[in-house]
Amino acid sequence: MKRTADQVSVGILGGGQLGLMLAESLLHLGASVATLEPDPESPSATRLAQVKAKAFTDAAAIKELFSRCDVVTFDSENVPEAPLRRYAAQLRPRREVLAVSQDRKSEKAFLTAAGAPVVRHQPIARTAELPAAIRAFGFPCIVKTTLGGYDGKGQYRFGSAKELTDAKFEGAGPWILEEQLTLTTEISCIVARPRQGKAFCFPVFENFHQHHILDVTVLPARVSPALQKQARKISLQLAEALDVEGLLTVEFFVGRGRDGRERLYVNELAPRPHNSGHVTRQACTMSQFEALARILVGAPLFEPVVHPGAWCMGNLLGDVWEAQGRSGGDLDLSAWAKFPDVVDVFLYGKAIARPKRKMGHFVVRAKTADQAVRRARAFRVALMRAP
Ligand code: ADP
Ligand code: MG
Repeated sequence: MKRTADQVSVGILGGGQLGLMLAESLLHLGASVATLEPDPESPSATRLAQVKAKAFTDAAAIKELFSRCDVVTFDSENVPEAPLRRYAAQLRPRREVLAVSQDRKSEKAFLTAAGAPVVRHQPIARTAELPAAIRAFGFPCIVKTTLGGYDGKGQYRFGSAKELTDAKFEGAGPWILEEQLTLTTEISCIVARPRQGKAFCFPVFENFHQHHILDVTVLPARVSPALQKQARKISLQLAEALDVEGLLTVEFFVGRGRDGRERLYVNELAPRPHNSGHVTRQACTMSQFEALARILVGAPLFEPVVHPGAWCMGNLLGDVWEAQGRSGGDLDLSAWAKFPDVVDVFLYGKAIARPKRKMGHFVVRAKTADQAVRRARAFRVALMRAP
């Protein structure tokens, strides 16, 4: 006999904002939630029950999580995969999906084998080999750590050989070298794929980054229907090829390489909820978190509809706290009173605000996409001026 949602127990490796918002959706469905997250002041630790502050490599903590939960998922592809091997039967998405997406080298190899368009690249084993390899590869290029990078961490850009002269790389490698494209824009697709039933793709999101970090997401994306169709098709194919049970986010570049032709490139994969999908919490009849929660507990899943209007999600980084002279925690939100079109502000409750650290986000609803972006930027400026 099938279990109902209120009998299902779900484990989450990671208690960041993604883990917290997923937990909210799971609790809403009546499931019970247990989290493993090393940071004792994580967003989940401060707001949820049943959060264990132990390392992802703590064998006893991992064993306990898997023994008390029916299924276990993760809120970051950077959780070490080796300690999870013996519990692979309970892991969603599959262990192999985690392994492919957490290593940029295997990710590129998978994408290439799957026939997806990727930027020209080259793996480099050791840091000592980098300078010569970069010169031979050509400029402009980006060097990325293959393991553990996120929000632009572990990335170095080189416009010319001159910039390479006193370059310092953190860590011993391995690395991946990528041609730096001239970007027109960036888009992302989130595929929701249940074990049984039909997979679907959330609407295409248009993303703007600053300093390699997501700044704003816009819905509907201001790219051609043909490009959107192609992105959705590729994303569904990749989720199928990986046999994902859960979510698969596919990040794309729309840009030009050396040959000067504009096209779509797959940048990277994230088998989990994604920052660009936060906008679905207000803009869609079902959010990315609700979709994953339903997949994990086996509840019915239907393709969501986008509410009328245009939407923009803006990230709130530690820089906003800094501008207000705050070291973390709460923010002065008095400026919100003048922005009735800001339909949601979500602060993650992180105690320490570092520059570039994701501390919260907000969502704007407007008539047009351009207007939504303008209002989002104006709101952030107003917050930075407070009090
Ligand atoms: P992360 O894991 O930190 O998100 P990404 O590879 O997605 O790493 O890079 C972050 C951002 O840096 C991208 O969204 C894009 O704005 C920029 N970027 C990364 N690689 C390239 C590239 N090859 N060409 C142009 N811009 C790039
Ligand atoms: Mg990225």
